[in-house]
Amino acid sequence: MTKKSVTILGSTGSVGRSSLDLMRSSNKFDLFAITANQNAELLIKQCREFNPRIAVIGDESLADSCYESLKRSDCDTKLKVGQDALDEVASDSAVDIVIAAIVGSAGLNPTIDAAKNGKRILLANKEALIMSGQLFMKTALESGSTIIPIDSEHSGIFQCLSNEKSEASAIQFKGVEKLVLTASGGPFLNLDSSEFKYITPEMACAHPTWKMGKKISVDSASMMNKGLELIEAHHLFNVDMPKLDAIIHPQSIVHALVYFLDGSVLAQLANPDMRIPIAYGLTYPKRMESGVEHLDLVELTDLQFLEVNEDRFPCLKLARLAAKEGGSSPILLNAANEMAVEAFLRGKISFVKIPQIIEEVMMKIPCESPASIAIIHDLDLRARQLSNQLINKGS
Ligand code: NDP
Repeated sequence: MTKKSVTILGSTGSVGRSSLDLMRSSNKFDLFAITANQNAELLIKQCREFNPRIAVIGDESLADSCYESLKRSDCDTKLKVGQDALDEVASDSAVDIVIAAIVGSAGLNPTIDAAKNGKRILLANKEALIMSGQLFMKTALESGSTIIPIDSEHSGIFQCLSNEKSEASAIQFKGVEKLVLTASGGPFLNLDSSEFKYITPEMACAHPTWKMGKKISVDSASMMNKGLELIEAHHLFNVDMPKLDAIIHPQSIVHALVYFLDGSVLAQLANPDMRIPIAYGLTYPKRMESGVEHLDLVELTDLQFLEVNEDRFPCLKLARLAAKEGGSSPILLNAANEMAVEAFLRGKISFVKIPQIIEEVMMKIPCESPASIAIIHDLDLRARQLSNQLINKGS
């Protein structure tokens, strides 16, 4: 059996570390490259344990200390530096599988390069679909690249649809009436909205069911994450927005449901652990052990499903609006959200300011149809500059 060669973009993050857990317990994969931005210490530690062919450090100021540390270690890993190196390890002809787990728009270029080069992409990074959904899916289709979502909700849908066709692509699912993503509701599901202004970054990052990076934890708390996921599902499965829905399910056991025309509903259930969708993506259409315990259905006495109250979570409403407008709207939404969340995490703005900044950016920059990655980056930059002004004005 030939081993599959894997690049993990963002190996020091939460998804990256779960991916390495699977590499640790399986002999089916060769690690081609791992990457980090600033966490050089963990990157070097990972090199010592996994001995990948290449390690990339994104932040160029850390290059010298990384070289020194690698020289002192026993591994043969070669160090590369900077954003271009990310693109190289995502598109190298030796690579079969790219796990796209860089957070934010920094993940866009390497993920698109992987798609151009026909890789199997295990997609966690949201920006490839939010910022450039049509372009990204078209690129993947043309090159024969397989996109397998590893966000648990999209993986759930992907698994429920596996009998309908073999992979996510630009073909409509004729027998499908509705796709439903579940949302835990985050840590503030039952908090009175008058208390939202007192929410601290620590409170927002304390997710009740998932252990994740800070940015996505805040997005879960504001429910922007669900909004971004609806936009992602629209592109991944080529389903119109009216056929996509979200419901609250605080236990995070049912990840997604697919409603079929004949009245059948398929759901995917599992303990909330990212190793399951990553493992599925690595060996699809086969399955491998993930190390995650099976559900004990007898223990599951209290599974709740509730309607989402969008008035309490304006970020979700804004995401739906961006999806409806299409064109550049999701790009503006995403960039403004990234800036606002970062400012919130640094204590510069309050939690309730996040949707206000996003709404203002979406109103002030006119919507257009971006035809290239260069235009997408330009729109992203403009939205970030305006967000910055609004953050500084309000702080
Ligand atoms: P983390 O914040 O834990 O990790 C992010 C990774 O990206 C780190 O390896 C980080 O490097 C790297 N990175 C950050 N900025 C840059 C940059 N400018 N250039 C290169 N690398 C960079 O995030 P998560 O693992 O939680 O999430 C990763 C992506 O997956 C996100 O888009 C998230 O929305 C999505 N996702 C996450 C899920 C989860 O359960 N965590 C579930 C579904 C989707 P360093 O450590 O050096 O800073």
